[in-house]
Amino acid sequence: CGVFGVFGHTEAANIAYLGLHALQHRGQESAGIVTSDGEGMFAHRSMGLVQDAFSAEQLGKLPGRIAIGHVRYSTAGGSHIRNAQPFAVDYSRGSLAVCHNGTLTNADELRAELEAEGSIFSSTSDTEVLVHLVARSKAVAIEDRVMDALSRVKGAYALLFLTADTIVAVRDPRGIRPLCLGILPSRKDAHVLASEPTSFDLIGAEYVRDVEPGEMLVIDAAGMRSIKLPVDETPARCIFEYVYFARPDSKLNGRSVYEVRKELGRTLAREAAAQADVVIPVPDSGVPSAIGYANELGIPFEMGLIRSHYVGRTFIEPQQSIRHFGVRLKLNPVEQILRGKRVVVIDDSIVRGTTSRKIIKMVRDAGAREVHLRISSPPTQWPCYYGIDTPTRRELIASSHSVEEIARYVTADSLGYISLEGMLSAVTRIGDKSSDPDEGHYCHACFSGRYAIPFSPGPEGAAPA
Ligand code: 5GP
Ligand code: SF4
Ligand code: MG
Repeated sequence: CGVFGVFGHTEAANIAYLGLHALQHRGQESAGIVTSDGEGMFAHRSMGLVQDAFSAEQLGKLPGRIAIGHVRYSTAGGSHIRNAQPFAVDYSRGSLAVCHNGTLTNADELRAELEAEGSIFSSTSDTEVLVHLVARSKAVAIEDRVMDALSRVKGAYALLFLTADTIVAVRDPRGIRPLCLGILPSRKDAHVLASEPTSFDLIGAEYVRDVEPGEMLVIDAAGMRSIKLPVDETPARCIFEYVYFARPDSKLNGRSVYEVRKELGRTLAREAAAQADVVIPVPDSGVPSAIGYANELGIPFEMGLIRSHYVGRTFIEPQQSIRHFGVRLKLNPVEQILRGKRVVVIDDSIVRGTTSRKIIKMVRDAGAREVHLRISSPPTQWPCYYGIDTPTRRELIASSHSVEEIARYVTADSLGYISLEGMLSAVTRIGDKSSDPDEGHYCHACFSGRYAIPFSPGPEGAAPA
């Protein structure tokens, strides 16, 4: 998911709309904005893409100088308008809204406990637990109420809370999910918060810094203050943000996502070189790593697969007779590039293996003589419990198949993955070391099974970090 917040702008809803637009890649299921004009809260949530979710008229009905917004793809709780965020409620102390990127690992236990005590939930989302916990806190100030609630929850979270006159932004103690702070230079007191700083470019905001793991920012009429959560954990930032999830024009933790992907490609080339005539990416996520791979080996880089940018999530599965067109809807090969060639295909990850298999068939059908698949992350063997939507362990092909077996399944002439060490060293080679005190502190549980946060019931065979 993606979260966006703005404090102190007369066009808060419009700014949030643009910010969410730049975060669209983080979730296409639903979009929502909640604003406050100091007295009341105003909300609009809808299924689908940001541009379809809001009309100019609907945005016009969201007054106020403060807003938070969310784009969702579901990890906990189904795809339903009831689960669309931000959540907004009225309770004894006024209005409260919240939006969340991440997954709370103990939400089920907390929910059962709250329900046993009479709480009524209106969604199946893990995030709603937080609303109840904040509402039940005995503390007075919003930051203390949020602090109370957070003392009960475990897991990964980048959170934005909105009250009548305050935004509270908080990142979990390990900083698993990203969150960045920016400022609108035209109005020094106008702060913006976002999952990724690309969204700042679109609204003319300046990137200030990443919110630190375990840091809470409270923004109100008095300005901004930073409070440290009373727990010390080793940071475990999601490494998969660099591999796949974040936009390549984003910077996370002082590291350019584009530069990291290129370095992943160079490292992959050294670890798993292929004899080939051309290197092609699976667009879009595979592009920078394919450039790095091709540069390192001196093999020409070409766009051998063209991606249609008009395939939405709302696409209806066609009838059986035309179903095999499925991948073609999204990707189509350029025959002139592929015919008679030994081709290296670069992708970021193999999840189930079904897409890779179709892509390789497509490249072969276009005349490629050999097809070598190279993957810029290690084998995905473990599910993510921290806010990235992965299937169950059983469905992850690498959890039960060797690299050779996967190569056979996807019908590649050869298959190579970057190593875990190679991936970690590639990431930490990029960026300004002086601004990065936590070099190397990344979560890689989906590749290593070393989970930083325990959960119950734990996955079989998972090693604690
Ligand atoms: P597979 O070959 O496993 O069927 O599909 C692999 C493709 O899924 C890769 O191209 C990769 O970019 C994409 N992918 C990796 N992680 C995710 C994810 O979390 N969500 C979605 N929708 N796609 C993903
Ligand atoms: Fe990111 Fe993988 Fe860790 Fe999930 S398990 S937070 S996807 S590195
Ligand atoms: Mg892909």
